[in-house]
Amino acid sequence: MEYIEAKRVLAVGESEWFGCDYNANLYRGCSHGCIYCDSRSDCYAIKRFDTVRAKRNVLAILEEELCKKRKKGIVGLGAMSDSYNPCEKEAELTRGALKLFDKYGFGVSLETKSDLILRDTDILLSIASHSPVNIKFSVTTPYDDLAKKLEPKACSVKRRFAALEELSRAGIFTGVLMTPVLPFLEDDSASVLSIADKAAEAGCKFVYFGYAFGVTLRDSQRVHFLDKAEKLFPGTKQKYCDAYGNDYMCVSPNNEALVAAITDKCRKLGLKYTMQDIVAENKRPYEVQQISLFDF
Ligand code: SF4
Repeated sequence: MEYIEAKRVLAVGESEWFGCDYNANLYRGCSHGCIYCDSRSDCYAIKRFDTVRAKRNVLAILEEELCKKRKKGIVGLGAMSDSYNPCEKEAELTRGALKLFDKYGFGVSLETKSDLILRDTDILLSIASHSPVNIKFSVTTPYDDLAKKLEPKACSVKRRFAALEELSRAGIFTGVLMTPVLPFLEDDSASVLSIADKAAEAGCKFVYFGYAFGVTLRDSQRVHFLDKAEKLFPGTKQKYCDAYGNDYMCVSPNNEALVAAITDKCRKLGLKYTMQDIVAENKRPYEVQQISLFDF
């Protein structure tokens, strides 16, 4: 594995994103090959994005930073690079970071497409005994053959749901991140509703689809996506150009109907689907704990 130098690991989080007080990226780049990946955008300046590199001494830096934080909170992992990329099997940086969160009393909110996370169920449970843990699997289609084209090196959808089921059964708070949903390729109601059904069957607490069904595209990410999509599904590039031009937000033409269908489905299945409700549900057991501590 290649290494890059890093001075800092922990950054202030965007609390509106799953209640994250802090963010950390232990790796740079991702080898899962999702054709729509936003981390390819120019603003992130990640060269050779498909090659995973680790930050040198990342755990020592992280420990020093966690020690100094007076405010405990939830650390978001995996926003820019899957924390369970194939290098993690040997490098164990994500496992090491989870151990540090456990040691210093922090929670974790993590998104992945890999069932390698099951290896770390023991530490996730230990963290959950004192702080919120929220494990999200990214699922954009319920169909393995389509996922193989759009996310060629990620775990199959079947394995993602099997992992979700195992984590849920162990008592971990889990959910599905249904973003992006690619217009003209994934935005039919049968597909979207099937993901919600599978999430409920796997014991998930939520499905999050954002504010609208669609995808964001910009600069080099757009070029990469349209090039790959056109090769896989001829005619797609023209459809996107006609519908969106150079727009950043590419909202599905079916958005309104999809939002109505999925919200109805989630209500019936007892799944949360708004960020506010998901965060509140995730944090609730810990707030009760705090109140009872004050009570006695
Ligand atoms: S798993 Fe996430 S970070 Fe990795 S390529 Fe896919 S979308 Fe990008």
